[in-house]
Amino acid sequence: MAMLNVLRNLVQEVNSAHDLPEALGIIVSRVQSAMETEVCSVYLLDPDSNRYILMATEGLYREAVGKVSLGYSEGLIGLVGSREEPINLEDAPSHPRYRYFPETGEERFRSFLGVPIIHHRRVLGVLVVQERENARCFDEGEEAFLVTVSAQLAGVIAHSEATGAISGLSLTGERAKDVCFSGVAGAQGVAIGEGVVVYPAADLDAVPEKQVEDIEPELALFGDAVSAVREEIGQVAERLASQLRPEEQALFDVYLRMLGDDALPGEVVTRIRDGQWAQGALKQVVQQYVRHFEMMDDLYLRERAVDIRDLGRRLLSHLQEGDQQDRTYPQNTVLVSEELTPAMLGEVPREQLAGLVSVRGSGNSHVAILARAMGVPTVMGLVDIPVNQLEGREVIVDGFEGQIYASPSQELRTFYQDICNEEDELVKGLEALRDKPCETTDGHRVSLLVNTGLMTDVVRSLSHGAEGIGLYRTEVPFMIKDRFPSEQEQREYYREQLEAFAPNPVTMRTLDIGGDKALTYFPIQEENPFLGWRGIRVTLDHPEIFLVQVRAMLKASEGLNNLQIMLPMVSNISEVEESLHLIYRVYHEVREEGYDIHMPKVGVMVEIPAAVYQVRELADRVDFLSVGSNDLTQYLLAVDRNNPRVAQLYHSYHPAVLQALVRIAQDAHAVGKPVSICGELAGDPGGAVLLMAMGYDALSMNAASLPKVKSVLRSLSREWAAQLLEDVLLLDSPHVIKSCVDLSLRSAGFGRYLRPGKSSAAMRQEKTSA
Ligand code: PEP
Ligand code: MG
Repeated sequence: MAMLNVLRNLVQEVNSAHDLPEALGIIVSRVQSAMETEVCSVYLLDPDSNRYILMATEGLYREAVGKVSLGYSEGLIGLVGSREEPINLEDAPSHPRYRYFPETGEERFRSFLGVPIIHHRRVLGVLVVQERENARCFDEGEEAFLVTVSAQLAGVIAHSEATGAISGLSLTGERAKDVCFSGVAGAQGVAIGEGVVVYPAADLDAVPEKQVEDIEPELALFGDAVSAVREEIGQVAERLASQLRPEEQALFDVYLRMLGDDALPGEVVTRIRDGQWAQGALKQVVQQYVRHFEMMDDLYLRERAVDIRDLGRRLLSHLQEGDQQDRTYPQNTVLVSEELTPAMLGEVPREQLAGLVSVRGSGNSHVAILARAMGVPTVMGLVDIPVNQLEGREVIVDGFEGQIYASPSQELRTFYQDICNEEDELVKGLEALRDKPCETTDGHRVSLLVNTGLMTDVVRSLSHGAEGIGLYRTEVPFMIKDRFPSEQEQREYYREQLEAFAPNPVTMRTLDIGGDKALTYFPIQEENPFLGWRGIRVTLDHPEIFLVQVRAMLKASEGLNNLQIMLPMVSNISEVEESLHLIYRVYHEVREEGYDIHMPKVGVMVEIPAAVYQVRELADRVDFLSVGSNDLTQYLLAVDRNNPRVAQLYHSYHPAVLQALVRIAQDAHAVGKPVSICGELAGDPGGAVLLMAMGYDALSMNAASLPKVKSVLRSLSREWAAQLLEDVLLLDSPHVIKSCVDLSLRSAGFGRYLRPGKSSAAMRQEKTSA
């Protein structure tokens, strides 16, 4: 228990250190005293020189810090690093790998215990304790303690190391090679610009609590602040109005509602009346809300804490100094923040906003939804990055790969600038293909459809020549509201989509919430949300939601007759039968009401392994099938699609996934039903080639990928693709399959169509290792 306390305090102390040397200094001194040992030192592996550098010590000569270094496999330090496990020696000097540095005064010490510091599989360095001759040797308990310290601190060390790396400096303070920081892709594209850190205008946590006698002035101050913030948000919403559809603008209404008298302000006023000064009362209320939301397991609800904190900061800054100064932004602003919020995004004029970077959040956050709608390259979830260091620096945002680079070398800048130019040219060049069919050189026809959510997607899809909508994610208009949209509201959203593509088909998926997609006003808290109450399971349990949605869809389709309905997350035949029953019921009711509508085609999504084995039975009951390869991959491989820790295991080119895809297409066709695919794999040129060869009738993807996929498919024969498919089905590793497909596409002359982020990362790696 005592050790546990030591550990807890140590982690806290290290977390509050300002830089790497301070953090490492704390580690060596605390570990030395906790273990009552004579020496504790940290060696870190410098990625540039590939040498272990003595970075901090308690017990060895301080002058040696930063000077003594060992080659990657040199000495006992190199041995610990390369074996990736602890080495505990009673008599280190007698070990054949012992290497002694007079600068450190190490000769006095005989026993040696070294443990590796490993973060996400990468050896960052080695933590060492040493004892003098005749002293005890380290026992098992001490070894276990040191391993625990090292495992707990690896993340913190990685974070502090990143601080230096952002300035382009190596551990030794020299110019380093370009270091990339990885997060989660938020919105595709590449941006090169200047980092502008949006920090809290006011620090709520720093506000002291204070009792006041004179309550009225505090109330007046607070009232003014609320009005000012209301106005501010109204202005931001107005500034964005031309770029956003009403459903996207609804986000700002949510903000304004939080500022309503009976919401947050009401509670603050109560506390002011109890004698707390306005700033303190605000702090208390906001912190209480934030704690409440942050404790929620649900991702989407946790995002609410961000909104509340943002509101709190805005109110505080008005309380503290009245008006905020107007900020000017550089031409290519890369907006960086610990927590980007939709309101922050609206503060930068669109033509100056090049990219977005957020430490917190994921592809599911409000900001990511808006960024995609606005086409701003975005990286989210950059957990190891110290935000404040990015102010004023040149930043490259790679929204394809979810990576950023800070202080890039001339070489890297040119490299990404070329990608930007190529992308622009490629897109322009592909415009000519808009009205051409997607047909292979040997006459095989495939339909290319788009996935949509927001209206902006629709506009872009039409200009890219999509032949219809293969997946309209109806949860998106539900997610940006603060209550279920009414039947009439839904009808308007749906009508827009149907009208934009008529007479081409528009496939609307019934509400697919749960998993990582939650509604603030309908919270679902579960231990395993992806294996829980999701998609059709929720809506069949709540027919009042399902029926209203289907009714809105059917009414919206009047006179257009291009609606198709698709059911998500089906794992049982009975779910299809129950849904069909409800759809028929609504169909008859709506007709009886006098609407001139046709019975829409109904399809099922194959995205759960069970459905793969019941494709025939499912297909017998519906008009079409569509594969959700995003979920199918996650469920077949047991890899959470949103968890960055296992992201490298999430692979749609996994042989098991490909075998399943082949089987689905064969079985659907065997019973005479069309089958399409609407997961991300369809928008990947290599994936599209394999899917076409498998016989998929339609590929549905995001609008940006469509022209590239069309261009590739139009330039090759189905026979060529079939041969490629046959070859890769013989391979057993996802990575080898991916390389094989990439290589074939490259040698067929399609290198430029591969995702620029992917190929750039690969090419850069080749360069670095060369
Ligand atoms: C899928 O799972 O592949 C799919 C298209 O649906 P979503 O990504 O919305 O879960
Ligand atoms: Mg899905």
